[in-house]
Amino acid sequence: MLADKDRIFTNVYGFQPWTLDAAIMRGDWDDTKGLMARGQDALIDAVKASGLRGRGGAGFPTGTKWSFMPKEPKADRPNFLVINADESEPGSCKDREIIRHDPHKLIEGALIAGYAMRARAAYIYIRGEYIREAEVLFAAVAEAYAKGLIGRNASGSGYDFDVFVHRGAGAYICGEETAMLESLEGKKGQPRLKPPFPAGAGLYGCPTTVNNVESIAVVPTILRRSPEWFASFGAENNRGTKLFQISGHVNKPCVVEEAMSITFRELIETHCGGIRGGWDNLLAVIPGGSSVPLVPAAEIMDCPMDFDGLKKVGSGLGTAAVIVMDKSTDIVRAISRLSYFYKHESCGQCTPCREGTGWMWRVMERMRTGDADISEIDTLYQVTKQVEGHTICALGDAAAWPIQGLIKHFRPEMERRITEKRGGGLSPMMEAAE
Ligand code: NAD
Ligand code: SF4
Repeated sequence: MLADKDRIFTNVYGFQPWTLDAAIMRGDWDDTKGLMARGQDALIDAVKASGLRGRGGAGFPTGTKWSFMPKEPKADRPNFLVINADESEPGSCKDREIIRHDPHKLIEGALIAGYAMRARAAYIYIRGEYIREAEVLFAAVAEAYAKGLIGRNASGSGYDFDVFVHRGAGAYICGEETAMLESLEGKKGQPRLKPPFPAGAGLYGCPTTVNNVESIAVVPTILRRSPEWFASFGAENNRGTKLFQISGHVNKPCVVEEAMSITFRELIETHCGGIRGGWDNLLAVIPGGSSVPLVPAAEIMDCPMDFDGLKKVGSGLGTAAVIVMDKSTDIVRAISRLSYFYKHESCGQCTPCREGTGWMWRVMERMRTGDADISEIDTLYQVTKQVEGHTICALGDAAAWPIQGLIKHFRPEMERRITEKRGGGLSPMMEAAE
């Protein structure tokens, strides 16, 4: 178990105020100027050495991403930092806690990261539904401006750096980094083709790095405590501490910071009071938010909760939003519900996603009610394969993977309910769509 002294997010439960005075008492904004004085390249090297990998889901090495930014930005083509706070992945709720209770870690991180990347400003794009969190963030940014921590001569460093907060309007797809850039530019939030990656052509066509809230908020502590300290947690290639968000059928759902690579069993036993009804009652787990495949109970129990460990069991760490399902779960219905989510959130730009997500959901609903034909299970699988990897952004993959996981691990259950014609009629969503 991670010792309290090694926790970065010491106010994650909001026992203390989020305000600047309280944040300073917790150690934030302590000699930020001195940290910046280490030099831009040294800061990037330190983040590289820490082994920090992006906490938004994809796990791309953060320091490496920063190093893609031009070292000598042109006056008419400045560098930008965009912070992705459009947390919408079903099961994910960690960035919400950071912004609610520790917004100054994010703002200080934005300044240091922005400075390291020679960025002119940071845009924090916050999920539209996060209304109270946005209020806190606006107020915290105002506090930082008022104290001269950001803005002109930020923290007395001689560097000018602005922070803008932009509220989203409720579209999941705007969390995809290039859709976010489109949205910030005032356009419809539809993903762009990559490459070019944002570091080459991002916000307003300028070099841009898009980072997740947690990736940025941990940076000041990494620099203060040393990259080696951060890298001392977790397995090779999976370093650091991480906010896990555990929901579903555990005795005590929670958001908790733990060392990467902790096993699923230890995570649940230590922080969640075990599985509801005991370990024998565990059915399956979606370990990284709804975009990663589910893992059956037997395979997840002793699995290290990190990028590589979960990959070995055919899934991923994603955002570390751990959705636990016990044996009372109607697993076909659960995955069908996720299919509806992706159908609803598809931006409609590319045909395999626009048509495929709706098609997959309708078949999943017939699987749920037992009205499908057994041969359609294979057809459904083939369609997921036609969608996967054939779309502009990762939403197509995210819609395909949960169904693939279901077919891989729970095919007998799908066949059983078709054979028995089980199920309780159309869901309210399906009825509405009919
Ligand atoms: P990605 O692998 O395409 O990219 C990850 C990051 O690395 C991006 O910033 C990208 O620009 C950068 N990158 C990758 N290759 C690069 C290269 N060759 N050169 C320069 N930069 C490069 O993944 P993605 O589509 O950004 O994200 C997918 C993930 O998002 C999924 O794994 C999912 O878990 C997660 N997700 C999270 C949420 C949430 O609410 N936090 C919501 C939906 C999805
Ligand atoms: Fe839009 Fe889906 Fe294509 Fe992504 S995969 S660009 S969400 S239609």
